[in-house]
Amino acid sequence: MTSTPTAPLTPQARAYESMRTQGLRLTSQRKTITEVAFGTREHFTAESLLTRSRRRDSKVSRATVYRTLSFLVRAGLLRQVGIGQSSPLYDPNFADHPRHGHFVCVDCQKIVEFHDHCLDVRESIVTKDHGFSPKRVNLQIEATCDALRENGVCPRNSRAVQPKSKK
Ligand SMILES: [Zn+2]
Ligand SMILES: [Zn+2]
Repeated sequence: MTSTPTAPLTPQARAYESMRTQGLRLTSQRKTITEVAFGTREHFTAESLLTRSRRRDSKVSRATVYRTLSFLVRAGLLRQVGIGQSSPLYDPNFADHPRHGHFVCVDCQKIVEFHDHCLDVRESIVTKDHGFSPKRVNLQIEATCDALRENGVCPRNSRAVQPKSKK
């Protein structure tokens, strides 16, 4: 499809590579922010990225965080997810898993990731039927919370926003 090398690069390495090819200097602040952004599987806000980056380097500036975020989004390595949050949430998991979807709980706004291989098949059939080739998928299902309805509590409310991986 493309001429990119097949060796799997980490999202960080891909970010540094994009910065290099686009003439953006890899400063220590940008490096810290990028490492922190991809050092988690959790969705995060710009402000939480700033807080965590400053734990590593107190000189990290808010402006650099916002600029680096929008660079990483433009580079296709980060994406915004969710609905109705007061500030956008960024998802670091697309770089490694570009085909996952999200449930957004309309009761508590929590976001849960899912993978469904049948969807991949459906999507390629549907796009082909309409004369398209899939490039980027952004599947988000807004749903109400079964647990909240049954128990009055959304169990995800007390937990970090994280994909539930069955190990
Ligand atoms: Zn995700
Ligand atoms: Zn919920």
